Amino acid sequence: MTKNIERTLSIIKPDAIKANYSGKIIDLIESKGFFILAQKRITLSAIEAEVFYNIHRDKSFFSDLVSFMTSAPISVQVLEKENAVNSYRLLMGATDSNLAEEGTIRKLYGSNIQNNAVHGSDSPENAEVEIKFFFSGLELLSKT
Ligand code: ATP
Ligand code: MG
Repeated sequence: MTKNIERTLSIIKPDAIKANYSGKIIDLIESKGFFILAQKRITLSAIEAEVFYNIHRDKSFFSDLVSFMTSAPISVQVLEKENAVNSYRLLMGATDSNLAEEGTIRKLYGSNIQNNAVHGSDSPENAEVEIKFFFSGLELLSKT
């Protein structure tokens, strides 16, 4: 049977960037067998963060989330692996770092329900949308 190689969109969030954890997080991601197809460090504007998190527009935490996501640079990756979307959600752990399982990125490098170190797409469909939000076709050409 052919392997279901998928892509997912990962973000190392401002809390982890400011704490200088990005190298450790990338190391963990690669050690679990994800291939980094593309990667860049950017700083989101408020409008860009609002569009990216549009699904949460009506939530009570939306304005805090936008402030947080624009408070420092982020590092964005396209990850490839078999079942990358679900596999990366498992490696991230629960949304609230206080409830995240031992060994997960959010347990190791996050602080709370907002400052939780990383984002990962929650479905293959959303992964496609999120990847296109951050990367051009040229940046996604596989060189391997
Ligand atoms: P992400 O989408 O970033 O991968 P997630 O899917 O686990 O995380 P969502 O419910 O999509 O969680 O929420 C998006 C982000 O909003 C969370 O990762 C977190 O940074 C923030 N957030 C979620 N719930 C809360 C909350 N109750 N209070 C404050 N911030 C929150
Ligand atoms: Mg989410």
